[in-house]
Amino acid sequence: MTEDIISVRGTAKSYGKKEVVHPLNFSVKRGEILAVIGPSGAGKSTLLRMLDTIEPASEGEIFLFGEKVTKHSAHRLRNRLGMLFQKTVLFDRTVEENIALGLSYRFVSREETKKRVAEVLESMGMSEYAHRSSRTLSGGEGQRVSFARVLVTKPEILFLDEPTANLDPVATRVLEEMILHENRVNKTTIIINTHDQAQGQRLADRVAVMMNGSFVQFGSADEVFYHPVNEAAAKFVGVQNIFTGIVRNGSAVSGGVVFGPAPHFPDGIIQIMLRAEDISLSKTGVPEGRVSVQGRVVSAERSGAFLNVRVDAGCIFSVNCPFRQTGDTYVPGEIVQIAWRIDAVHLTKSA
Ligand code: ADP
Repeated sequence: MTEDIISVRGTAKSYGKKEVVHPLNFSVKRGEILAVIGPSGAGKSTLLRMLDTIEPASEGEIFLFGEKVTKHSAHRLRNRLGMLFQKTVLFDRTVEENIALGLSYRFVSREETKKRVAEVLESMGMSEYAHRSSRTLSGGEGQRVSFARVLVTKPEILFLDEPTANLDPVATRVLEEMILHENRVNKTTIIINTHDQAQGQRLADRVAVMMNGSFVQFGSADEVFYHPVNEAAAKFVGVQNIFTGIVRNGSAVSGGVVFGPAPHFPDGIIQIMLRAEDISLSKTGVPEGRVSVQGRVVSAERSGAFLNVRVDAGCIFSVNCPFRQTGDTYVPGEIVQIAWRIDAVHLTKSA
């Protein structure tokens, strides 16, 4: 078993009378990427600041590398940690000088600093930026330089607080590649806060869903995205079809639609969840082995690479189809078949 590099035991944070992070218990293994996802104000940054030892916990304990974080150990432990924030802060100097600042309090010789800055720039494919003035950089390039300034310290644990929140999609992907590279090549443990659920899915081994200061779910990316524990978590991870239904004769039913078997649920009220991209849409037949129902198109709208079609089939379904594959268009009132695999249906107890 890989060792726990972070261990959080009953850790909570209050500001005045308000507890903004309720007691948490979890651990992170060396080399793991954990994404903490959740809406703004959930407590993600506060948690990260406690783990980075910047902010003392109000309650409970944190162990880093097996050592308890205390007033005395915090400073020494912090030398093994790195933090990248959402907001890029660069000084009006060259890229090389900005990165070197990461080492300025670490008693590293001038030659060693130069060598390490060159190495980090090279590993990021940014050697030609060394002598550029930070003023000439785009937002994405600036954030990559900020990242380099953290990496040059060779952190064993890296905390990333909404690192791509201010970047465009292309710059976001470039930084995400660099984050993955750092984890794969240097085995750096990473905790990333993000309100972008898809980013959590792209990067993380495990995902914690944080809401109102608590983890409502903590598991593999697939568990969190395909088996959310409740409606709030489901909405946050982008499940568009959430229906209140019942279990009748061992099947999950809502609006007259039989979604599939519900073997582990007693008769009664349940929540039925189905991701919009897990539903197929057709004007003719449906693939075999699927649950299918007939419905009427309510609306069809382009949404990025998908066509989002709302279909009334007893319940109003939201279906995302990659329309350029079929070239099909849909008009309101048209009769269509929608279908899904039984294992795409996720059921939870009603709240
Ligand atoms: P997130 O990162 O998920 O957006 P934060 O950790 O920034 O959430 O904030 C969680 C809650 O704690 C918010 O209600 C915020 O207003 C509050 N909070 C954060 N920092 C402080 C502080 N220094 N003093 C008082 N309240 C704070």
